[in-house]
Amino acid sequence: MEKGQRSQGDARRRRVQRLKKMIVLSVLIWMIFPVGLCVALFGRIKALDRQLAESQSCQQQLLEQVAAVAARQEEEALRRQEDDTEQQSSPLERQEIMVSAPVAAADGQNGDLAVVEPDAAHKVYLTFDDGPSKYTEEILDILDTYDVKATFFVLGKESEYSIEMLQEIARRGHTIGMHSYSHKYAEIYRSVEDFSADFYQIYSYILENTGIQSTCYRFPGGSSNAISDIDMHVFADFLAEQEIEYFDWNVSSGDGGSVLLDVDTLVRNATSGIPGNGTSIILMHDAASRPTTVEALPRIIENILAMEDTAILPITDNTTPVHHIK
Ligand code: ZN
Repeated sequence: MEKGQRSQGDARRRRVQRLKKMIVLSVLIWMIFPVGLCVALFGRIKALDRQLAESQSCQQQLLEQVAAVAARQEEEALRRQEDDTEQQSSPLERQEIMVSAPVAAADGQNGDLAVVEPDAAHKVYLTFDDGPSKYTEEILDILDTYDVKATFFVLGKESEYSIEMLQEIARRGHTIGMHSYSHKYAEIYRSVEDFSADFYQIYSYILENTGIQSTCYRFPGGSSNAISDIDMHVFADFLAEQEIEYFDWNVSSGDGGSVLLDVDTLVRNATSGIPGNGTSIILMHDAASRPTTVEALPRIIENILAMEDTAILPITDNTTPVHHIK
């Protein structure tokens, strides 16, 4: 009887112990499983984080490379244009130009831009960037034919021919604006000091060669260019401190792109928006690589002159500027 009770007690203790073991085991399993899961997920998150950071830095590198290639291509195009300009004028032609182009300051027309603009519902400003080029004289002759004045945002080109063309632009009564000395985005937009150094170089270049103190500027690439790492307001503020107004454009002929546009497209681009604008500042290029701009120019001018209550004017100190950045 006593023996039977003892074995029953032993069996119960064993059952209780088994139960305890199972409870401990299941508690352990329920604790270890989520912790393990957490550790695994954490590891996965870290790995994804690393992948994301790598792909972002790859993307950044790619963007930088694209910007650098674009800047290099533009500089290369400008160098080619400069070479063309150097080659295209014979010594004899230069001599003739020298005779007919005394230094413009004596003319007095360009030194003082404080001209009252005539009343017109639509004011149109033809602007030419990147010159002088081998086409400058042809452009000047076309402008003379229609008796209209334009604005040339020039670069610091030191060849004898370029300087003669610069003087010719001034002598014929057009406005000379600055478009930087070097046109090298990477250098100009590196810092305010670099921008300032380039600014004084182009300002002095124009002053020394024409006697004109230029008061207007066009940023290479416009104020909305995506190349400068520094906020463009910094450079705009610098110009404001020098009492220089900068001019972007609200009408583009499209002749600055990598593809050479045909005459019809240039005429359409340059003129179709004008009737809807009070002020139209048209972007064009005086560049050796842009022959179709010269071909399109007579039609562009004729179309504008045929528009009602519309005047073609050079930029003056009274011109309402167009700014891409606010
Ligand atoms: Zn330019």
